[in-house]
Amino acid sequence: MSSFSGKNAVRQTLVLLALLLVIGGSIAWTAYWLTKNRATSPKPDIWLYCTECSQVYQPENRLGGEHPRACDKCREKAAWFAMQCSDCGEVFPLSPETDENGKVIRPKPLCPNCRSGNSEMYHLSGKTSLGKGAEE
Ligand SMILES: [Zn+2]
Ligand SMILES: [Zn+2]
Repeated sequence: MSSFSGKNAVRQTLVLLALLLVIGGSIAWTAYWLTKNRATSPKPDIWLYCTECSQVYQPENRLGGEHPRACDKCREKAAWFAMQCSDCGEVFPLSPETDENGKVIRPKPLCPNCRSGNSEMYHLSGKTSLGKGAEE
């Protein structure tokens, strides 16, 4: 009797263990999947140029209120959309050109390097969508 019930208990334990493994495995898989999904979720497709720390980077959040917005790196309110000159490749901030009174002369600045007006939102190679969405 005791040996029989003992075997039975072992079998039950094994079944329980197998069940736990299956459940644990699926939980682990789900967690892995979620993590992986989060890890590969794209960062905002905008780039900022900080005139304080001169860094060009993708911000943590797509929306950051009025420009210049607070820089993710140095916390100064000096981050503008990053632009790239189509002619010479210069990367510069999309800060409006103003006259001495602070009046905006040119909302979209000229290239500071070659004074070309041909520029587009900075992006990594391969992505060419200028996207109105970046103007939010
Ligand atoms: Zn900065
Ligand atoms: Zn240029």
